[in-house]
Amino acid sequence: MIQPPAPVWPADSFQPVLDRIAIEIAVRAERGAPADYIPALACADPHRFGMAVAELDGTVYGVGDWQTPFSAQSLTKTFTLALVLAQEGEALWRYVGREPSGNPFNSLVQLEYEDGIPRNPFINAGALVVTDHLHSLTGDAIGTLLEFLRAESGNPDLGFNPSVAASETANGDRNAALAHFMASYGNVANPVPVLLDQYFRQCSVEATCAELALATGFLARHGIRADASSLLTRSQAKQVNAIMLTCGTYDAAGDFAYRVGLPGKSGVGGGIIAVVPGRCTLCVWSPGLDARGNSVAGVAALDPFTTLTGLSVF
Ligand code: GLU
Repeated sequence: MIQPPAPVWPADSFQPVLDRIAIEIAVRAERGAPADYIPALACADPHRFGMAVAELDGTVYGVGDWQTPFSAQSLTKTFTLALVLAQEGEALWRYVGREPSGNPFNSLVQLEYEDGIPRNPFINAGALVVTDHLHSLTGDAIGTLLEFLRAESGNPDLGFNPSVAASETANGDRNAALAHFMASYGNVANPVPVLLDQYFRQCSVEATCAELALATGFLARHGIRADASSLLTRSQAKQVNAIMLTCGTYDAAGDFAYRVGLPGKSGVGGGIIAVVPGRCTLCVWSPGLDARGNSVAGVAALDPFTTLTGLSVF
């Protein structure tokens, strides 16, 4: 007789599974190397590790450095995408695609033969387009993003680190090249220096695992914010989750889906956010990255989480 599948994570707390994962991570030798393109990220300790799980009602479980702020970097691309999609809907897809790029996150090559339309909103070119739209829609992209993150996380002091933003600017030639190149195709509305300033401040947002897991909650609640208002339709929340799954972890999205089985978005600060639709959200942080820019310990922690709990989209 065919056996029914085992129940999905029957326990009423995620704490035991987080504690077990932290013990496994602590004995792992392999950590990767912090991003080295700006000094502020390069000096991060790869042995830092934090992980938080937020349930739909805002209950948070955490382990390790889960209450230590870190540089969110590209995790913010998830929130700017949602904020623009909420206002523009399908019209956004005339300016940015939604296919995996198979190229590094800061690559220029595809842009030329695809006429200045970036492959997806999570590579840098696509994120610049999204931030450009958010700035045009609101007149204050970084302010809008911070207002959203503060409301969802419950931390009114959540902000960006000006010295990281300055360092991003000082080392921003490649992002400047992407923005100017797209501007030459008419795919940037704001002056490029204005857009870059907004984008670099966005990259420099600092928040804890707990705060970022809470801020991602709307994607597990099918578009509903912490105050019960709606940011996205159920269908749009599904779309953002789908783009995270296919494009959210640089050119390693296939491997991430294979190992973790959840929509996820990583950043070069070593953070990864992930979504279990209808159940919970996660944020894990450890600054050591693999060759494709994903946190080594972060992926190594999410992998057993979905295995131990049975919580995955597959
Ligand atoms: N500030 C980084 C950049 O734009 C963010 C990259 C990332 O986290 O993927 O190059």
